[in-house]
Amino acid sequence: MQAEIIAVGTEILLGQVVDTNSAFIARGLASAGIEVYYHSLVGDNADRLTAVVTQARSRSDLVVISGGLGPTKDDLTKQTVAHLLGVKLVEDETAMAKIHQHFLTTGQKLTPNNRLQALYPDGSLPLKNRTGMAVGAFYQAPTGADVMLLPGPPSELEPMFREEALPVLKHAYQREEYLVSKVLRFFGIGESQLVTTLSDLIAQQTNPTIAPYAKVNEVTLRLTATASSEAAASDLIDGLVTLIRQRVGNYLYGYGDDNSLANVVVHGLIDRKLTITAAESLTAGEFQSTLGDIAGVSAVFPGGFVTYANEAKHALLGIPNAIIDTEGVVSAATAKRMAEGARQRLDTDLALSFTGVAGPDTLEGQPAGTVWLGLAQRGQDPQAKLVHLTGNRDKIRARSVLLGLDWIRR
Ligand code: ATP
Ligand code: MG
Repeated sequence: MQAEIIAVGTEILLGQVVDTNSAFIARGLASAGIEVYYHSLVGDNADRLTAVVTQARSRSDLVVISGGLGPTKDDLTKQTVAHLLGVKLVEDETAMAKIHQHFLTTGQKLTPNNRLQALYPDGSLPLKNRTGMAVGAFYQAPTGADVMLLPGPPSELEPMFREEALPVLKHAYQREEYLVSKVLRFFGIGESQLVTTLSDLIAQQTNPTIAPYAKVNEVTLRLTATASSEAAASDLIDGLVTLIRQRVGNYLYGYGDDNSLANVVVHGLIDRKLTITAAESLTAGEFQSTLGDIAGVSAVFPGGFVTYANEAKHALLGIPNAIIDTEGVVSAATAKRMAEGARQRLDTDLALSFTGVAGPDTLEGQPAGTVWLGLAQRGQDPQAKLVHLTGNRDKIRARSVLLGLDWIRR
């Protein structure tokens, strides 16, 4: 079973829009055990689209195409593909009703080109578009490769692919072998150390396989197993996860493709009903902004403090200037005071603080990358932790934020 993916759109070809659809589809196909051999990209041009789809169908079993299902003149994927497959376009009643309803509600006039969005190649299974108008399609060809058509906007494609397309594909290509894969995410351990610690497991790897991947601030391992049932493949994975946890469980913070450290931490706080705030000097709000990226954080994060200069540390957190003068701003004492000051002011369960030298210049004679983190917890004495980071200003600040997140995760 070989698949390939085609993204359609002149704006992508010209680099005005980055093709995220193909990556999204590829990950989904992999999760269904379908191997992807090629990605192509073509503009909104019927001849070139015909050529690309024809080539794709000549060498693959399934061709998944995104883009060009809309009502405008440059949207010609459906017409082109239907022509190539030798079928006509037919109307999907549900999609047509939705289009009618939309025009009724908005009071706009329904023009013939809008009907185009409800059409799909005859003989295909229409795929419902929950977040838009254009219907998708899965065409199982009597001979030659199957074709799937998906809308261009990621906000439409992603739910359609997840909810409509994937179950259909899994059903259509039921296999003797089931493939299950799981991503393990690590923070605080480098790729080489991780690989060394697991070297014997990696050397023995056949089923499941272990694929390490280093990203900017973290390392992931993708475990992939095949078996005669999904449950059996999952069992193989679970067994290996247990072995890996025994060795490096401390650094393992979560599972899944898009599961960031911030996501894991925020959901952990929500689950445990623990509120958090922060007082940030060198990170200047980056930690709180990172929390803000996670939907639902408002349940545990009332807000916090950006106290860059000493005056702000004094005015907002009540840190006496004398403390800063005697202990230094980059110090355990200041970090603890900042965390506890923030925690008390917003009456939260936890508070983190960040004070350090983002660089490039030194501060109080301390080199760039010297960072104190503070942690205050209700009913406990505040703690402070010193770290020495390398890299430029951006890196030092970003790393500080992650270290703060990792501290509360543990
Ligand atoms: P519409 O009904 O909005 O016209 P469509 O199915 O015709 O949808 P396109 O016209 O090809 O899709 O693309 C619409 C928009 O969706 C593009 O301008 C772009 O912003 C986004 N888009 C299209 N293809 C991709 C892609 N492969 N990756 C990311 N974004 C995409
Ligand atoms: Mg369009």
